[in-house]
Amino acid sequence: MTDAQEIRERLTEAGHAEVDPARARVRVVNTCCVTAEAVAKSRKAVRRAARTADRVLVTGCGANLAGAAFEDVAANVTVVRGPSERVPDLVAGWVGDLGCTGGRPAAFPRTRAYVKVQDGCSFTCSYCVIPHVRGPSRSRAAADVLADIARRAGQGHREVVLTGINLGCFRDRIAGMRLHHLLVAAADIDGIDRVRLSSIEVNHVSDALLGAMTHPGVARHLHIPMQSGDDRVLRAMRRRYAAARFLAAVGRARQLVPGINLTTDVIVGHPAEDEDAFGRTLEAVREAGFTRVHVFPYSPRPGTADGASDPVPAAVKADRSRRLRELADTLGAAHRRALSGTRQRVLVETEAGRGYTDDYTPLVVRGGRPGTIVEVVA
Ligand code: SF4
Repeated sequence: MTDAQEIRERLTEAGHAEVDPARARVRVVNTCCVTAEAVAKSRKAVRRAARTADRVLVTGCGANLAGAAFEDVAANVTVVRGPSERVPDLVAGWVGDLGCTGGRPAAFPRTRAYVKVQDGCSFTCSYCVIPHVRGPSRSRAAADVLADIARRAGQGHREVVLTGINLGCFRDRIAGMRLHHLLVAAADIDGIDRVRLSSIEVNHVSDALLGAMTHPGVARHLHIPMQSGDDRVLRAMRRRYAAARFLAAVGRARQLVPGINLTTDVIVGHPAEDEDAFGRTLEAVREAGFTRVHVFPYSPRPGTADGASDPVPAAVKADRSRRLRELADTLGAAHRRALSGTRQRVLVETEAGRGYTDDYTPLVVRGGRPGTIVEVVA
């Protein structure tokens, strides 16, 4: 999301006009490679784009990991490989060389902005290809991040999401700032009503971070990837925590940030997962009270420690995914019922009045205008 936004802005700055995709001479497809399915979907998108555009530029993790799979799609496809920090300039160079310039600037959504504070990951989860395609962890300077946020406030954005591949690794050693300092400094910027974190590893959910989340300008929501609730599977995944430690961190978050809403990612059908282990994952999700679960059926990725192994049948993965989604739906519905009758501040994002509370619960506000914060009784 942040990478795509940066490419759009870089092209707009260079004077290129964003038009209806069906009329575009150049299309940029930012790809994902986190699962085999994600690569297949990205290939489909590239094929579709190549039918109408003169040139298709393929960027993102999919381009870095499996560039050849995209180059084969059509003769007018160019794969742009490189670290995310360089890709907007590389794309602008390609588009400039094609002579596409001029036009009105793109209209960016003005409600929520995504600001990257960190990129890459130095962890070694056994199933994950991200460190191979995005490189080791590195942070932006806090002053640059805060200047970007102030610019967003000036553009009329009310909410900012701090993003990173392994966000809790953010550190500006020169300024002496870690993520909790940055969070408070961002929330103090004039014009910004809310700051949220995109996703954070449980190892980084410290008391200092939870303390920062009690600032009135920080959203009471954390997305903490759990991946499994079974210790044997977590060890096989090299996840650096046991289920009990994960659940203790969740309990601490609820204690220090009253009303916090928690969501998560879970991988089902990892090679080490049997039915008992999956049962423990269901129990952990229930105990943690996650209101939304992004379920990823396990998919072996090339170059990872688990890359050669995929013993769990697809039908079993599909069944476990369904059971986990049903549980998440039940927990999500209970959370929405618990909010019923309470006062909530909703940042309206669409003409239809759809928006989110500060704990990231979706609500529809009748008559709400996009970009406004409305106080309602849920
Ligand atoms: S922490 Fe996240 S990005 Fe890093 S290796 Fe593990 S799953 Fe991948």
